[in-house]
Amino acid sequence: MNESALVIIKPDGIQRGLIGPVLDRYDTPFLRLVGIKMAKVTRALAAAHYEQLRNKPFFEEIINYLSGKLNGIGSVLVMVYYGDQAIKRCRAIAGATNPEEANPRSIRGAFGRITTKGVYENVVHVSSNAKEARREIRLWFTPAEVRGFSQHIQQSKAKGRS
Ligand code: UDP
Ligand code: MG
Repeated sequence: MNESALVIIKPDGIQRGLIGPVLDRYDTPFLRLVGIKMAKVTRALAAAHYEQLRNKPFFEEIINYLSGKLNGIGSVLVMVYYGDQAIKRCRAIAGATNPEEANPRSIRGAFGRITTKGVYENVVHVSSNAKEARREIRLWFTPAEVRGFSQHIQQSKAKGRS
C-alpha cells in the first residue's frame, strides 16, 4: 500500500556532514522524494514532535537533542518519502533505534552513537506508522507546502486533521 513517511536528518547528522550519505541511502526505486526543506527547530516544535514520549525519562534530553542544544545545530533537514510500504522501508534503511543494536550497514548502525549521558544520537528520525506520519507531516510542513504533495498523503483517513 502506498503511504508517506517523514524522515528527519537530526542535528548530529547535519553536524557530521551526513546529508549526502543519508539522502543517497533513501534514493531507491521504491521511494519517491515528494517534500524536502531545512527547518529551524524550536523547543516547542521538538516537544510537539515527541509529544507521545513526554512521560519518558529521556524526554528532556531528546528535546535538547532535536532542537540542537547538544550539537549546537539549530536546523534539521526534513523529507517526505512516498511509496509502497514507505514507512517500513524508511525505518529499515534507518536501522534500530539503539545504534549499538542497529544493523551496522544501516544509517544508525553505521553513523549513530550513544552519548555519555545515554542519549541515542542516531542521525535520523523516521515516522513509526501512517497515523504518526500524517501528524508529523502537518507539524513540519505548512498547509501550502503540504498542498504540493497532498495527493501523496492518504486524505480519507486524515479528514478533520488539517
Ligand atoms: N531515544 C533515546 N533513548 C531511548 C529511546 C529513544 O535517546 O531509550 C531517542 C532516540 O534518539 C530516538 C528518539 O528518542 O530516535 C525517539 O524514540 P523512539 O522510541 O520514537 O524511537 P525511533 O522511532 O526514533 O526509532
Ligand atoms: Mg518514534
